[in-house]
Amino acid sequence: MFTVSGVRGVVGDSMTPEVALNLSTAFGSWLRKGSVVVGRDTRPSGEMLQRAVTAGLTSTGHDVIDVGVTPSPAVAYSTKIFQAVGGVIVSASHNPPEWNALKFLGPEGMPISESDVQAIRDQYTRSAFTYASWSSLGKVYPRDVTDAYIAAIIRNIDVEAVKRAAPSVVVDPGNGAGSLVTPYLLREIGCHVTTLNASVDGFFSRPIEPTWEALEDLARLVVALKADVGFAHDCDADRLVCVNDKGEVMPEDIGLAIIVDAFLTSGAGGVFVTNVASSLMFDDIAEKHGVKVVRTRVGEAYVAQKMVEVKALIGGEGSCGGIIMPQIHAARDGVLAAAKVTEILAKRGVRLSELVLQLPRYHSARGKVACSGVDAERAVKALKERYRGKPLDLTDGVKVHGRGEWVLVRPSGTEPVIRVMAEAKTPGRAQELCDRFLSEVSAILALKKGET
Ligand code: MG
Repeated sequence: MFTVSGVRGVVGDSMTPEVALNLSTAFGSWLRKGSVVVGRDTRPSGEMLQRAVTAGLTSTGHDVIDVGVTPSPAVAYSTKIFQAVGGVIVSASHNPPEWNALKFLGPEGMPISESDVQAIRDQYTRSAFTYASWSSLGKVYPRDVTDAYIAAIIRNIDVEAVKRAAPSVVVDPGNGAGSLVTPYLLREIGCHVTTLNASVDGFFSRPIEPTWEALEDLARLVVALKADVGFAHDCDADRLVCVNDKGEVMPEDIGLAIIVDAFLTSGAGGVFVTNVASSLMFDDIAEKHGVKVVRTRVGEAYVAQKMVEVKALIGGEGSCGGIIMPQIHAARDGVLAAAKVTEILAKRGVRLSELVLQLPRYHSARGKVACSGVDAERAVKALKERYRGKPLDLTDGVKVHGRGEWVLVRPSGTEPVIRVMAEAKTPGRAQELCDRFLSEVSAILALKKGET
């Protein structure tokens, strides 16, 4: 599927060297003149696809800055420091190992907009390629950006505070690109670091998506070592999941909430940008600091672009636990988030399990119904009609607000399903809301066209 979060496929099936070559030739034909940064995660298919991408970009006259295996946020950061006109990340993020994807970035590492995606897709579909002549083909420049990226994060961390606290941290990068950065960064700022699943040999010792079940080993190790905190990433380290000192895997939005609360406490206010699916907890935190919350469609690209528009200094998506701080680069960053959570724990001298208790807490439930894109749109339209008198948010699908609770029904951007997500004060109420809307959606889908 061709979306703002990239073009995904199964390797050897819908994602082949030919697809990667044609996509990047289309991207190169569309881009203005200048160099392009290319990097990848640790999947075995990454090298093959990156070579195809490099061929496409150099064929259209773009120099390629090859940053190799590195986290997605480091590719975004490289796009900024090398003043590149764009970037390509070869990574399927949290998808299983047989998947891979290309994600296109604009200048400053900004995810490209929906209209730009349309333009590139159009050039790809028509094979409208603009090749450079033999004498003006691009060249390839390998660059290691790890040290510069780590240094950029450290400039935004109170290293003395972390050194004084000398926290004990366990890092589980899931054999992904974070293995090459996060443990080194945390050691450099004064943590005692133990790693788990941090070899980058193309094998994955746990499921790539950092779900609760996938992080049982990490949770056990945090307890066994009496560590202060555990951190886990997905394959490209734009996501962060925290494990507290009791070995409990925290919901993904906890890290973001802790960082946003601390950031706004420092008086750096203004406005906080997140998506419509993120917790009400962010409204409570923002309200405490007198800051406005702006909500966008679900997807890093929408959040990042809105942040530029409203000049926000901090933003992020609760569901992914990575933060966006434009002073470093414009993309979601799980490595930066790990450093920030460590800094906050050190400065406040509290344990993560205690800090979490101070946050406003809601409970969520989610489900999905398989259906085509057309049917998903039909269901959303029918619900909009049905709940017309209620407080609705139509930013992405349909969101029905209640007091201290909400339900969101939206067509997925990456799968042929319609997603239902509810949040409420108690787990029971969240599940009840979610179940009710799941059956409403199913009932609407069962009706023939025109009967809704
Ligand atoms: Mg990711």
